[in-house]
Amino acid sequence: MQKSITSFFKPKDESQNSKYAEDARKKETKSASIEEKPKVPTPVKTIKEEGDENALPTVDSEEKMELEAPSPVKVRKMELNSGLPENEASEAYDPSVETYHPINDAYWKAQRTTPYLALARTFQVIEETKGRLKMIDTLSNFFCSVMLVSPEDLLPCVYLSINQLAPAYEGLELGVAETTLMKAICKATGRNLAHIKSQTQLTGDLGIVAEQSRVSQRMMFRPKPLNVRGVFAKLKEIANISGQAKITLVYDVFVACRHAEARFFIRSLIGKLRIGIAEQSLLTALAIALVKRNHINDCKAHKVCDIYKDEIADTTLILKTTYSQCPNYDIVIPALLKYDIKELQDRCPMHPGMPLRPMLAQPTKGVSEVLERFSGMQITCEWKYDGERAQIHLNKDGEISIFSRNSENNTPKYPDLIARSKSLVKGNVETYILDSEIVAWDIERKQILPFQILTTRKRKNVDIADIKVQVCVYIFDLLYFNGVSLVTKPLSERRKILMEHFQEVEGEWQFATALDTTDMDEVQQFLEESIKGNCEGLMVKTLDEEATYEIAKRSRNWLKLKKDYLSNVGDSLDLVVIGGYKGKGRRTGIYGGFLLACYDTENEEYQSICKIGTGFTDEDLRQHSEFLSAHVISSAKSYFRYDPSLEPDAWFEPVQVWEVKCADLSLSPIHRAAIGAVDPERGISLRFPRFIRIRDDKSPENATDANQVSLMYNSQDQVKNNQKSSDQMDMESDFY
Ligand code: AMP
Repeated sequence: MQKSITSFFKPKDESQNSKYAEDARKKETKSASIEEKPKVPTPVKTIKEEGDENALPTVDSEEKMELEAPSPVKVRKMELNSGLPENEASEAYDPSVETYHPINDAYWKAQRTTPYLALARTFQVIEETKGRLKMIDTLSNFFCSVMLVSPEDLLPCVYLSINQLAPAYEGLELGVAETTLMKAICKATGRNLAHIKSQTQLTGDLGIVAEQSRVSQRMMFRPKPLNVRGVFAKLKEIANISGQAKITLVYDVFVACRHAEARFFIRSLIGKLRIGIAEQSLLTALAIALVKRNHINDCKAHKVCDIYKDEIADTTLILKTTYSQCPNYDIVIPALLKYDIKELQDRCPMHPGMPLRPMLAQPTKGVSEVLERFSGMQITCEWKYDGERAQIHLNKDGEISIFSRNSENNTPKYPDLIARSKSLVKGNVETYILDSEIVAWDIERKQILPFQILTTRKRKNVDIADIKVQVCVYIFDLLYFNGVSLVTKPLSERRKILMEHFQEVEGEWQFATALDTTDMDEVQQFLEESIKGNCEGLMVKTLDEEATYEIAKRSRNWLKLKKDYLSNVGDSLDLVVIGGYKGKGRRTGIYGGFLLACYDTENEEYQSICKIGTGFTDEDLRQHSEFLSAHVISSAKSYFRYDPSLEPDAWFEPVQVWEVKCADLSLSPIHRAAIGAVDPERGISLRFPRFIRIRDDKSPENATDANQVSLMYNSQDQVKNNQKSSDQMDMESDFY
C-alpha cells in the first residue's frame, strides 16, 4: 500500500501546477502590457548564483561590511510590492492586502524558492489580524503564491505554519528548552543572559525579545537570506540532536534571521507559533488557495472568496475528509498539487499503519435529549467503557499497530495484545482497522477494573513476562477491512462485517455490550446496568440513517450519556494544571490548591479557568505535589493567559491533564477562558470545581478547548433562558 502511494508522486514532466503558473504568467504578461502595470524587478541574485538552494546561509566574509539599521517591528502596510527593489519588497510583503495577486505580488517568483522572510511576514501579518476569516484569507494568499511560484515549498510551508516537522503520529517534536534558546540568542547578539531573561519576563515572549535583539544588533557581514526549505531542514536536524550541537545549530540559523524571521524561528523552537492557525484553519486556507489558483485567470483573484463560495465549501470538505483519513501532509500535499481535487480522497486513501482521526461523541444531559435528537431513527446503545481508546491496525505484512485517541503510537505498550491477536479473527482476514477501548481486567473475578488501575501499566519497553495489569479489549467499530474503507458505510453494516469476521475470547477480546432499542425506558434501564458493570454510562449511536463514521465534521451521531453528569453542565472538563498554591494546616509542605487552564487551540495558549482545592484525598495531594515539583518553572510561560491576581506560588510546565467537574460555568472578571467568545472582556470560570482524576490519555493540547468551554457555558439552562428572554426583548423592541 505504502509503495503505491509513493509512486503517485513521481515528478511529471508537466505538472498541473506549473500549467496554472504558466497560463497565468502568459496572461499576466499580456495584461501588464495592456494595463501598464509596474514590472516586478528582476532580483539582484538568483538562488543558482548563490549555490545550493537548500543550503543555509553562512556569514560570507567576501560580502560588503554592512550595519543593519534598527527597523520598527510593526508591519508596514503596502498595496503592492511590484516596483520595489527585492530587499524592500521582502520587508513590505503583505499577503493581507485587498488587491493581493498571487503571482504579481510574490516577489520571489524569479527565484522560485520561497524566502523564509515571506513566510515570517505572513505570520506577522496574521498575528496582527483580528478576524479569523481574514487570517485564513491571508494565509490562503501566501499558499496560493507558493502553489504557483514555488510549489515544491508548499509542504515545508504547511508544516511550518502548524509548527510540525512530520506527521503528528511520528512524534517528532521541537520544544527546545527556553534556556537553550536564550543561550543561543546571547551568543548571536552579544546580550547577556540576565538581560534576555528579564526582557522575556517583561514581554512574555522570547520570540519578540529575539527579534528586537537582532534588530538592534550591529552586523559585520550580512548573511545570505534564509529560505523556507533550508530552515525546515535545519529544524528537523535540531529536533534530532541534543546538547551543545543543538545550541550551535540554533545559532547558525539565528544569525541569518532578518526582521520577523527571528521571532518566528524562536517561537517554532519553543513549540508555540502563536499566530492562531490550528489545523482546521490551515486546511481551510489550503482549500481557498486551491480555488484561487483555479480562477487566477478568469476573474480578479481577490474576489474569489465572494464569487466561488460553493466551490470553496466543497474543496474544504474534501480536503478535511482526506486529511482525516490520511493525516500525513507528505502524502496529501504532493497529491493536492498534482491531481484534481475530486481525485484527492482516492489518491490519499486510508491504510493500516496510519492512524485516522477517531470519531468523537457529544455530551448529553439525559435520556430526554437522546430522544429529542434521535426521534424516529434506529439507534443502538453501547456500554461506555472507562479505559483507553485504541485504534488497532493490521497491515498487509501482518504487523499490528495500536494508536491512542491522540494518534500516538501505543504499540510498544501492549505486546500482550499483539501476541494474542490471532485469536481475534475468523477465516481470511488480511487487513483491518478496529476501533475499541482497552480496559484493565480482573482475571479472577472476570470483571472490569477502574481506569486508575490501567494507568499503572508501563508505557515503554514492556516485557510480556513483567505485565501485572491484564487488559481486555472492547471492540465497538470496524473502519477498514481487507483493503476496503468502511467509514462511509452505516454502523449497522460495519457491525455486521465485524461480527462475521471477528470473534470474542473471554477477558481478552469482547464486543461492546449493546442494545438496539428506541424505547427510552429501556435506555434508562440499560444505563443503570452499564454502571453496575463498572462502565461510565452509554454511547448512543445511529444505526442506519446518518450513521457513517464521521471524522472530518463534528457530528451528533454519537451521544454520550453518563449517569453522574450534573444536570446543568452536562459533562466534565479536562483541564491543564499550570500553577500551585502552598497548602496550609494539614496541607503544609505540599500544594493545597492549583490553578487550572483550558487550551485555546486557535491562539495556542493556556487560559486560566479556575482555582481548585476540592476533590483531593491527602494521598492525591501528596502525589500531585511530588509529580508537579519536578515540573516547576521559574516564571509563567509566555503562552499562559491569566490575571496577575492569580499568581500562584509555583508555575508548572503544562504536562498534566485533570478531569474536573463543577456546579456551573459563569462569567469571570479574572479568569481568561474563552475570553472574547461570550463577553469581550470577561472570561469563563468554573463554580465549585472538583477534582475527579488524572487524564493520562490526554495531552495538554487535547485538554478541553476554549471553544468547547464557551459552548458549555451557552448550553446551560439559565444562560439559554436568558438568551431566549433577551431575544424576546429584541423582537419586541423591533415590533414596537
Ligand atoms: P469522552 O472521552 O468522555 O468524550 O468519551 C468518548 C470516549 O469513550 C471515546 O473516545 C472512547 O475512548 C470511549 N468509549 C468507551 N466505550 C465506547 C463505545 N462503546 N463507543 C465509543 N466510544 C467508547
